[in-house]
Amino acid sequence: MAAETTRDEYGTDTRPILETDRLTKRFGAFTAVDGVNLSIRRGEFRSVIGPNGAGKTTLFNLLSGGLAATEGTVRFDGEDVTDLPPQERVRRGIGRSFQILNIFGELTVRENVRLAAQSVHRDDYGFLASLFKPTDRHDGINARTDEVLDDVGLTGLATAEANALSYGDKRRLELGMVLATDPELVLFDEPTAGMSIEETERTIDLIDDVLADRTLLLIEHDIELVMELSDRITVLHQGEVIAEGRPEAIADDRAVQDAYLGGMLE
Ligand code: ADP
Ligand code: MG
Repeated sequence: MAAETTRDEYGTDTRPILETDRLTKRFGAFTAVDGVNLSIRRGEFRSVIGPNGAGKTTLFNLLSGGLAATEGTVRFDGEDVTDLPPQERVRRGIGRSFQILNIFGELTVRENVRLAAQSVHRDDYGFLASLFKPTDRHDGINARTDEVLDDVGLTGLATAEANALSYGDKRRLELGMVLATDPELVLFDEPTAGMSIEETERTIDLIDDVLADRTLLLIEHDIELVMELSDRITVLHQGEVIAEGRPEAIADDRAVQDAYLGGMLE
């Protein structure tokens, strides 16, 4: 049966949630992302690493819709999303980390999470019912908001003004805002940037915890964390994928060492 061929020996669904085909972005004559083929399984934790300027952030922008591809395609959950605007991709389940600038500083923590939850709220009754059933709709959004605040450990700070949060708590709020959109796939671009060692560890534990049943695509510069957290690693160099595989294999890969790691793992 066809359904069986999409599951491996552990019963895991092996159909990719995200696939790119020769995805390319040029800025004028310069090619920042060069023919990238990715295939990410549902539930996988994948990291993208590579030196500064390798094209990691540009690749994420192509996936989230922040930038239009020059060539190639992005498929999500079996459908071509290459030409869809960012908000429609969020609605379909591609969650991207909001930058801290997207937090409304003068609103409370709770109000920020609620706005994110509201931005994607799907109701099964359609537009007309949404006019007649406002209470149900609000109950759903409020429940989701409370759940997320609990997941990211911000329930105690729910009524605090977002501006008043510490840097680490702002990043947790950011994570909460992504979760509030109920993403199937989460794109995180350096979620621990600027954090102390302790904050970094807390954040990674949190990501590991709250994303347990989702798919993660992570850009992270801390190699040890990447090795610990990832199922597989993709290495970008000058816009191209130069290696892909399990953390151990990547650590041993000579091309990766030459291009990037430079003995950091030895
Ligand atoms: P990374 O995130 O891996 O450090 P980026 O994706 O930010 O790399 O950048 C890849 C390359 O593309 C860099 O050389 C950068 O200068 C260039 N680049 C990124 N965005 C633009 C842009 N909007 N216009 C022109 N060049 C860009
Ligand atoms: Mg970057």
